[in-house]
Amino acid sequence: MSARTESEETYLDWAASTPMRPEALQAMVQAAQDGYGNPTGAHHRARVGRRIVDDARDQVADAVGAEPSEVIFCGSGTEADNLAIFGAHATNNGHVACSAIEHHAVLHPVQHLGGTVLDVDSAGQLDIAQLRSIANDDLAIVSVMLANNETGVVQRLDEIRAVLDELAPNALLHTDAVQAFPWLDVAELAAPADLISLSGHKFGGPKGVGVLIVRSHADIKAQTLGGGQEFELRSGTHNVAGIAALGVAAQMMASERAQVVENVGALRDRLVGGIMQALPDTIESARQVGDAAVEKVAGSAHVCFPGIESEALLFKLERVGIYASAASSCASGAQDPSHVLAAMGYPRELAAGSLRMSLGFGTTDADIDRALAIIPECVQTLRAASA
Ligand code: PLP
Repeated sequence: MSARTESEETYLDWAASTPMRPEALQAMVQAAQDGYGNPTGAHHRARVGRRIVDDARDQVADAVGAEPSEVIFCGSGTEADNLAIFGAHATNNGHVACSAIEHHAVLHPVQHLGGTVLDVDSAGQLDIAQLRSIANDDLAIVSVMLANNETGVVQRLDEIRAVLDELAPNALLHTDAVQAFPWLDVAELAAPADLISLSGHKFGGPKGVGVLIVRSHADIKAQTLGGGQEFELRSGTHNVAGIAALGVAAQMMASERAQVVENVGALRDRLVGGIMQALPDTIESARQVGDAAVEKVAGSAHVCFPGIESEALLFKLERVGIYASAASSCASGAQDPSHVLAAMGYPRELAAGSLRMSLGFGTTDADIDRALAIIPECVQTLRAASA
């Protein structure tokens, strides 16, 4: 059997991971060649490695509106989230809380510490009244993601900050901006947060490199002890090549973002519009509450097809080289029912037919043409088979 060529593939899973930007890949190779000295050392080769890490630190700081000394490189978005929650909890043993639609990298640490999982409404927006009801001197950290990985819904961090400033003076605000960074001006929208997580592979950088921004006033405790790298907050020899690539990708994303959002937003609208036209009973998730449109990131196209199972649809799509997902990807690759849609009050039968198509900086018109030519037909075939 011949392998499928890339022109027969349509990648609609950018929220799961992106291809690396060629410039980032080049920076990675160069850094691996030149920066092999241990950045904590004193000699010339060590200093070369350190310079590469520090240049990337400047690039990230610039891209997210932080000071270079506030950029903590770590091993993934997951590790950044864990460091934020466990690190804040360790400072005073206080209460921890997060929204019900967080990625498991936040949800599981909060549940592990016996914290509060806060409700969201049908549009996926945090229940501010519930936050007010638990906000007190004992609250150590609240974690609310800037943009959701399944639905793309954007949260208002300034409202959350205002509650904490009024009622919970000791609480840090953490935002998982892993999915937001490719689409939103994180420097502005995450400015109210004390801690911000990023992950390289969601914006054209490599997998296995993350960042936690820790504002200079934020007191958290290291969770990985050893050589004291990263301002004593994350020990472990630096992934110099990965960090170099992340820095380049972050800089490119920040400088090209406005154009990418415009292009991809138009492609996304065409994709969702075309599917709705072909299958009018499709439900676009969290698009509208009453008369008001819900703010979502430009790359997110999330729909539910009543009467079908996403797993069967994804299987059919994969056979013709269309790669998408249902709930967020998990380690086993199995399709768990989406905790995000459940928290938003979606009936299980409807959530079972969800499809997450996520676009990115490399998505083309041809991708959308191909998706529109194939996806509605696959849904109709599945419906006909189960009728
Ligand atoms: N947070 C969000 C919102 C994500 O979408 C992901 C990845 O899917 C992560 C955290 C975890 O990042 P990483 O894959 O770098 O561990």
